[in-house]
Amino acid sequence: MQGSDSQAGLDFVRAIVAEDLETDKWGGRVVTRFPPEPNGYLHIGHAKSICLNFGIAAEFGGTCHLRFDDTNPEKEEQEYVNSIIEDVRWLGWDWGEHLYYGSDYFEQMYEYAVQLAKAGKAYVCDLTAEQIREYRGTLTKRGTDSPYRNRSIEENLDLFERMRKGEFPDGSRTLRAKIDMGHPNLNMRDPVMYRIVHAEHHRTGDKWCIYPMYDWAHGLEDSVEKITHSICTLEFENHRPLYDWFLDELGAYHPQQIEFARLNLTYTVMSKRKLLRLVREGCVGGWDDPRMPTISGMRRRGYSPAAIRQFCTRIGVNKFNSTVDMALLEHCLREDLNKTSPRVMAVLRPLKVVITNYPEGQSEELDAVNNPEDAEAGTRKVPFSRELYIEREDFMEEPPKKFFRLAPGREVRLRYAYFVTCTNVVKDEAGNITELHCTYDPATRGGDAPDGRKVKATLHWVSAAHALEAEVRLYDNLFTEENPDEAGEGEDFVSNLNPNSLETVSARVEPSLAAAKPLGRYQFERLGYFCADAESSKEKLIFNRTVTLRDEWVKIQKGQTHKP
Ligand code: ATP
Ligand code: MG
Repeated sequence: MQGSDSQAGLDFVRAIVAEDLETDKWGGRVVTRFPPEPNGYLHIGHAKSICLNFGIAAEFGGTCHLRFDDTNPEKEEQEYVNSIIEDVRWLGWDWGEHLYYGSDYFEQMYEYAVQLAKAGKAYVCDLTAEQIREYRGTLTKRGTDSPYRNRSIEENLDLFERMRKGEFPDGSRTLRAKIDMGHPNLNMRDPVMYRIVHAEHHRTGDKWCIYPMYDWAHGLEDSVEKITHSICTLEFENHRPLYDWFLDELGAYHPQQIEFARLNLTYTVMSKRKLLRLVREGCVGGWDDPRMPTISGMRRRGYSPAAIRQFCTRIGVNKFNSTVDMALLEHCLREDLNKTSPRVMAVLRPLKVVITNYPEGQSEELDAVNNPEDAEAGTRKVPFSRELYIEREDFMEEPPKKFFRLAPGREVRLRYAYFVTCTNVVKDEAGNITELHCTYDPATRGGDAPDGRKVKATLHWVSAAHALEAEVRLYDNLFTEENPDEAGEGEDFVSNLNPNSLETVSARVEPSLAAAKPLGRYQFERLGYFCADAESSKEKLIFNRTVTLRDEWVKIQKGQTHKP
């Protein structure tokens, strides 16, 4: 829908790849990569990039590398590496043997830096980080040359080698590219290539105490791996001249960088820095909290990989930053879950019903359809007996006009079972309804009355004696604002957290759910899609509500609702 169609039906990135194949620009090769920095868990924005890079490789007969851009030892951890591997795989993509780490190229990067220094294109600078910022100038003011800019090549080579050997303290020196302090693009004003950090790296240990900066490292990683199309987000557009400068000066293999718009979603934040804060400050239960927009959170919430991939296809790829409605993501989710989820009955807020004309101690099994969308899914048995639970909100003592569900004297259908009529409302001393008495019509077994009389509602229910207790977690948006970053004065996105994003209820579910495996997905009839939590067990059943049944996206498309 949003992709631009420069080549019949292809988005602009795919159109470039298709044309390059046609003109044989890369000798028939298509090599892309997904290059996460292992400094947090992946989120739905990363899924867009993953589906684009792996999708292109799959569609054009190429390969896609999974590469860890692990050049910043202070923020990176093995835990993040492991989670990223798990998440990309779970999304359904395969990098084969092409798993790489930027840190594996540290030696080569160092040699490339020496090459630049030897060519007089890089120098060791003794300015502090703050001074470098001051000397850089602004968009309207040219920068000032560093007093160390004209060191001799010999001195630069000597100092750089001693930087590597650990002779200097953190932050005391940098290696900088010698480009142009008057360049209109600030990224070109002698950018830092190496800094000194005496920090333990999660893979190289203490072998290095100088670490390459992102702009220096990233292009080299692409070059070493012979990437053809280096696809990144728009904020790197004005880093491209530097990416090109480094590779041209080195005479190294030179991929084409292509920028696309990053994904933004309503009612959530997507930067790893902010997600990390939510985790650290205990605003959520962890990176995989089902309210998080992380892949691991969405998995635990009950999202399927197919739904996420379908969403990424639907949003397309383009050049303009925009914000996608959360309702579209949930629409893609419902479309997939509707086809694939077995139906079961569960009662979230139980109200006891006694069928007074049903014999005590008796029970029977009724046939229930597992998935009306899938003829092969078959049926299962659900037990029925004298005492049942229905949803508290399916009964009203004094029903308003449009309420067609159970009320005193009224008859409704119990799904897959019988017609029942409410004959009595039992209350405690405080006046709270504690149970209902109903009668059932044995002639309506399976759901219809032989005399053709109709009811206006069908309710879900469970048999009290057979039902299992389950903790059910009902989730809502993590933030109350469509754009959580818009906060009041002196406040930030954290002030927009939704205090009601999680409600826990003690539910009763049909006995077939005893076999629910962690992350198993279901539709609870009339209530929504749910999945067994990762920590759910036979002893303690826990379900997460993935999404309700109401599809706001369909309404938005029909123009029936206006966004708040
Ligand atoms: P964040 O800003 O969330 O910290 P990042 O860009 O720093 O993300 P990286 O690990 O560097 O995270 O990202 C790996 C890849 O994922 C990059 O190519 C980046 O462009 C892409 N990516 C990150 N966020 C998004 C997003 N919201 N939409 C599309 N692609 C994204
Ligand atoms: Mg980054």
